[in-house]
Amino acid sequence: MFTRRRGCRHGCWPRLAGGASVPQERESRASGGTVMAAVNTETIPSLCDGLQGTLHLNHPLGAKTWMRVGGKADALFRPADYHSLREICRRAGENGIPLRTLGGGANLLVADEGVDGIVIDMNDAAFRGFQEISLSEDINAPLSLDPETGESVFINVSAGTDLAKLVMDTAAAGLAGLEMLTGVPGTLGGACRMNAGGKYGEIGNIVREITLIDMTGREHTYTRNQVRFSYRSSDLPSGVIISAVLGLRRDSPEEIHGRIKQIMAEKKQTQPLADRSAGCVFKNPLVDGVRVSAGKLIDLAGFKGTELGGASVSGRHANFIIPGPGCSAADIIMLINIIRAEVQRLHNVVLETELVIWKRNTA
Ligand SMILES: Cc1cc2nc3c(=O)[nH]c(=O)nc-3n(C[C@H](O)[C@H](O)[C@H](O)COP(=O)(O)OP(=O)(O)OC[C@H]3O[C@@H](n4cnc5c(N)ncnc54)[C@H](O)[C@@H]3O)c2cc1C
Repeated sequence: MFTRRRGCRHGCWPRLAGGASVPQERESRASGGTVMAAVNTETIPSLCDGLQGTLHLNHPLGAKTWMRVGGKADALFRPADYHSLREICRRAGENGIPLRTLGGGANLLVADEGVDGIVIDMNDAAFRGFQEISLSEDINAPLSLDPETGESVFINVSAGTDLAKLVMDTAAAGLAGLEMLTGVPGTLGGACRMNAGGKYGEIGNIVREITLIDMTGREHTYTRNQVRFSYRSSDLPSGVIISAVLGLRRDSPEEIHGRIKQIMAEKKQTQPLADRSAGCVFKNPLVDGVRVSAGKLIDLAGFKGTELGGASVSGRHANFIIPGPGCSAADIIMLINIIRAEVQRLHNVVLETELVIWKRNTA
C-alpha cells in the first residue's frame, strides 16, 4: 500500500509497479556489478576447512544490518584470525565464489532474496582496536591538520573497529580528528570504503594508508596518494579492508568531547536517530557544480511521511527511509525508485543512492 501523508504539490505519482515511469534501482558501485554464474554453495563448507572462525550456512543477513530487513546469505563466515581471513579470500577467489564484506551493516540493504556466495563478517575481536604507531617518511605526506596544533599522531586501526567506540576512545586518549564521525555508525572498514563523513569532514581527509586483502589472498597497502576519496566513495580496489592508518593530532580530551557533544546535538535535532535506518539513502547531488541537499529535494517533492508497504520517508529528514513493521527490502527499493523518478521529473536531478544494496548475482 502506498500512502502520502500530505499531497504531492507537483503532480501525479509515477506508477508503482510494472510501469516504465519508475526506473529500476541500479546496482551499487560498492557492491560490484558483474553478473556471475550460479554459485555451487555445496563447496562452501569445505572452503572453510581448517580455518578459525564461525561459518553459518543459509544465514539471515538482514538482521545484521541497521535496516533489519532482507534475506539470507548463502554463507556467513566470521574469521577469527588474520590467516583465516586471508585464506578464505584466496579459496573463494580460486573457486569463483562471490565474496562480500559486512562491516556494521549501517549503510546496507540486503535484497529479500538474499545474497549468493560468502559474506565475510568483520565483527570478530581479532579485527578490532587501534594502536599508536610511527610512520616511515614515504607515507608522511602533508595532512590538512590544524596548523596551530601542528603535532601529528598516527594510529593503526583494525577494520572491524566500531566507529562510535573509536571516536570516544581516541577522544579519551587526547587524540583529535575523528570528531567528524560522531553519530556515524558502523566500522572503520565500512567508513573507508564509503569515505564516511559529513559537514565537519570525511575520513578520507585523515587516512594515511589502507591495507586490504584481494581475492588471491594477497595483501596490498595503499598510501593516501594512491587512493582517490570523493564524496561518499573511494576508488579502493575490491577486497577486504583489514586496517587503516589515520593521522590525528593531540588535543585535550575536554576540548574533543566538547566538539563531539556539539556535533551530536546538531544531528539529534535534524536526524531521526532513534529510528531504524541506514542514514541518508541518497547522495547529495551536484547541481551546476554545487552540492545540494538530496533531503531538501525530496522534501520539496512532498515525500516527507510518505509510506509504501512497511517503508516510510522520515518526517524529520526526507533523506532517511524508516522500515516499519512488516517492511521488506522490496518496499524500500520501490520507494527509492519512486522518489528518484519524482525528483528527476520535478527538479531534473538524478539522485544516486548512498545506500549500498546487495542482491544475488552481483558481487
Ligand atoms: C543513523 C545513521 C546515521 C548515519 N550518518 C552518516 C553520516 O553522517 N555520514 C556518513 O558518511 N554515513 C552515515 N551513515 C551511513 C554509515 O554509518 C556509513 O556509511 C558507515 O561508514 C558504514 O559502515 P559499516 O561498517 O556499517 O559498513 P556496511 O554497511 O557494513 O557496508 C557498507 C559498504 O562498505 C563495505 N565494507 C564494509 N566493511 C568493509 C571492509 N572491512 N572491507 C571492504 N569493504 C567493506 C561493504 O561491503 C559495503 O559495500 C549513517 C547510518 C545510520 C544508520
